[in-house]
Amino acid sequence: MSSRSDSRARHLVCQLLFVWLVCLSLPAQAQDKPKPLKAVATFSILGDLVRQVGGDHVVVSTLVGPDADAHGYNPAPGDARTLSDASVVFVNGIGFEGWIDRLIKASGTKAPVVTASAGVPTIAGDAHGHDHHVDPHAWQSIPNAKIYVANIRDGLSRIAPDYAAAFAANAAAYLARLDTLDDLARAAIAAIPQDHRRIITTHDAFGYFASAYGLRFIAPQGVSSDSEASPRDVARIIRQIRRDKIPAVFLENIADPRLMQQIAKESGARIGGKVYSDALSRADGPAATYADMMANNLRAFTTAMTPP
Ligand code: ZN
Repeated sequence: MSSRSDSRARHLVCQLLFVWLVCLSLPAQAQDKPKPLKAVATFSILGDLVRQVGGDHVVVSTLVGPDADAHGYNPAPGDARTLSDASVVFVNGIGFEGWIDRLIKASGTKAPVVTASAGVPTIAGDAHGHDHHVDPHAWQSIPNAKIYVANIRDGLSRIAPDYAAAFAANAAAYLARLDTLDDLARAAIAAIPQDHRRIITTHDAFGYFASAYGLRFIAPQGVSSDSEASPRDVARIIRQIRRDKIPAVFLENIADPRLMQQIAKESGARIGGKVYSDALSRADGPAATYADMMANNLRAFTTAMTPP
């Protein structure tokens, strides 16, 4: 072989090697794999439900994060950007996010808005729930959460019909998990004597839990954490705890603990632990997902209600 054809061969090898290296450095399957959908959920509990159904095809951002209160939320400047970048927006509805309509309008987003609670049987708020006539905390009953999951599945499938089968499979698997959790909740509450099924929480967020599982919840604050409990409300609760011998009161992750600490001190009830009403815990906490949140709350409530 002449040195000339040798160098030509080497040149060809170099070219091939170069093409191969360029191909390797391209993002994996950039041409045939579309980017995941960008979903925005207004609060952390809803964000988890969207994640469960969306799986690998959806990237979820939440506006109100873990341990944060969505009732009186003040949108941050970045929220409008997050919305304008979204492929789909999920909201709870039932007046939970009083700030969302203005924010969506201000963001100029063209993304469809899916109301996750559409079709749930709503219940009235507590009488002293000032500005809320309908209780927005519908996710606190697992049968309602199943309706949320179906709405999320349908909403995602409308935006990305190519993934509809994947969304349907994810939803079916998750709905089966929720059924198991629901059975567990019913069995746990059924084991508690009827006259012990009374719970005190800071704000009236567990109405749906109560009506699904047959408990009575009493809260000094109304269904919105915006409203302050009046001294009269607090005095009434303390009288009620003493009269009905209610054993425990609960702290909420989104509420100032001082009110419950005061009520516990003055009534003689103990603090039954922390429960999660309107927001998940952080990832390393006991309620990082909807299912963990429900299991955590159920454990805290049943432990407190079980007679010694
Ligand atoms: Zn609330």
